[in-house]
Amino acid sequence: MEILLSSPRGFCAGVVRAIEIVERAIALYDPPIYVKHEIVHNPYVVSSLEKKGAVTVENIQDIPKGSTVIFSAHGSPPEDFALARKHDMKIIDATCPLVTKVHNEAKKYDKEGRKIILVGHKGHIEVRGSMGQVKDAILVDEPNREFIPKWDINTPVAVLTQTTLSVDDTANTIEAIKNRFPSAIIRNDVCYATTNRQEAVKKLADNVDLVLVIGAQNSSNCNRLREVARARGVPAYLINSVDELDESWLKGLKKVGITSGASTPELLLDEVITKLKPDSVETLSSIEEDVTFVLPSELK
Ligand code: SF4
Repeated sequence: MEILLSSPRGFCAGVVRAIEIVERAIALYDPPIYVKHEIVHNPYVVSSLEKKGAVTVENIQDIPKGSTVIFSAHGSPPEDFALARKHDMKIIDATCPLVTKVHNEAKKYDKEGRKIILVGHKGHIEVRGSMGQVKDAILVDEPNREFIPKWDINTPVAVLTQTTLSVDDTANTIEAIKNRFPSAIIRNDVCYATTNRQEAVKKLADNVDLVLVIGAQNSSNCNRLREVARARGVPAYLINSVDELDESWLKGLKKVGITSGASTPELLLDEVITKLKPDSVETLSSIEEDVTFVLPSELK
């Protein structure tokens, strides 16, 4: 069997930054260091950091007063920051700068008197953070377009998106919103890493018999990669690690493609390759990435 690896794949700049923030905070300040929500959506990463002194919690109320708290890469609503300040916590913000950009857009357009429509997945942690930036933002639960509000067509509207959506579905949803509100300001915020990994997996799927996406079930990014591969007409499976690999999927196949989401460590992919014992491993490159983000000033 041959293996074809997608490129780019794996860690994006926002994930690299978030993990480094936790590692540096553990080294600089006395553990435990509390992390509000999984720092990134990958259980291997989360448990590795917890072994070093991080403690993941879902609610600020669960953190002792005066502790150090890191806010996860997905972004959080302002009330979480306010509560942490009220409880005298040292706050370190690991929100990806590309998510912060969405927050800033929401506040800017809201101030200008526009209604904010966010295209995203209901219940996703990033959506909760972005929706929380302004009062009365409306969520269009991608890809269900019946959520598009039925306001007057001249309503001043700004459209923002979750960063980890399907590139193609989002373009269609934006088009539908644009048809309803022709003067809407459109900010498609699907990020470079999401876009590049989906482009790469399309190319990969066109060259293999099956695609394995390595990553967590709760990673939006990983789920979209599996969907994009399936939409190209090949079977695709999302597995968290080698332990979830079902070798019956691969029986008789000549070429297997492998990719991974923006929060998946390369090590998990290496373990799958080792288990498959392929005759050859090649990389199918598409887009070069050179994005990096600076650390918060207190950790530099
Ligand atoms: Fe930032 Fe995009 Fe990575 Fe999310 S997937 S952390 S938005 S670069």
